[in-house]
Amino acid sequence: MQEIPKIVEAIDEMYMAKAQAYPSKSCHASKIGHPCARYLCYDQVAPEDKKKPNLWLMQRFEIGNVLETVTVNDMQNALAGQGIRVEQTNVPIPENEWNIGGKIDCKLVMPDRSSIPVEIKSIQQFGFAKLDKVEDILNASAVYMRNYYGQLMTYMHFTKSPVGTFIFKELGGAYKQIDMNYDFDFMLGLLNKAALVKERVDLYREAFNEKSGDINLDDYLPERVKFSGNVCGKCPFLSRCCPDMANIEGVENLLDDLELAELCKTRDMLDSYAKDYKKADDAIKAHVKAKMAGAEVGAEKTFLVDGFSLNAKAGKRISYNIPKDVKGQYACEAVTIRTKIESIAPDSE
Ligand code: SF4
Repeated sequence: MQEIPKIVEAIDEMYMAKAQAYPSKSCHASKIGHPCARYLCYDQVAPEDKKKPNLWLMQRFEIGNVLETVTVNDMQNALAGQGIRVEQTNVPIPENEWNIGGKIDCKLVMPDRSSIPVEIKSIQQFGFAKLDKVEDILNASAVYMRNYYGQLMTYMHFTKSPVGTFIFKELGGAYKQIDMNYDFDFMLGLLNKAALVKERVDLYREAFNEKSGDINLDDYLPERVKFSGNVCGKCPFLSRCCPDMANIEGVENLLDDLELAELCKTRDMLDSYAKDYKKADDAIKAHVKAKMAGAEVGAEKTFLVDGFSLNAKAGKRISYNIPKDVKGQYACEAVTIRTKIESIAPDSE
């Protein structure tokens, strides 16, 4: 048999040959929402310490670029009849005193000639289903998702647009639009962060030149943020910033507790099943409750569906409406422990 070239291997190698950790020349709009100013400084002055993107990420970037072009094309065709022009700008935002950089994906030019910046994001089905409103982006647990909010806000700021919009394109093809309003206070926070980053980067570069590189970068950087899996765990500068993760302040080393690690892995594996279970369980109970509407206490009924029987019994719950001031007299304090479990692994959306 004639030898067939190893096509996938060749493609993978091609992508990995392009995987570089490039230095940022500015505080990029796509990252300005990141909670750690130290990370934003590293991004400009320590590219050699940045973890390179892996194969999955490189191929994901490529899909993102392709889908962006498809999306702009679809928008152009769909909105032409309404007199709205869709311009794929990719034009950099104007130079500014905070050294914030970035390129706006595209803008809508309305019939009255006003324009609206549009940020296009491709996204996997699981993340797509969780997005309905702008708060879902702003309060997302994944830092990369929260960064989207700061990114579009920055574009709105530099184009003086009171509104902006996200177009999410699911990898299977579906679209979702989420609009947002300009928020001056939020933007002020981003500008202050960018000013701090610029100040530290400038100080470091000045000292570096004066002392011919004989200085310690860390002396010029903002403080580390409190360690967490969601932020530091996903940071491409983790091994530069916290080479000895287990010994940083506020962290206790339990790396030899293999049982605890195994429980975390099991929990992580079952996470999406548990959420689906809860959703289905709540929906079933709501359905049965509706069927039992008006039932007397003690009434019992069995419902039969394909493969299952659902038994329902009407019971009684007694609640006490105690005035707040009376309730307050019986209040007692106790220590509670809240546990947040975050994976220290790269994001895969
Ligand atoms: S590891 Fe944490 S503290 Fe260090 S730069 Fe990254 S996010 Fe900031």
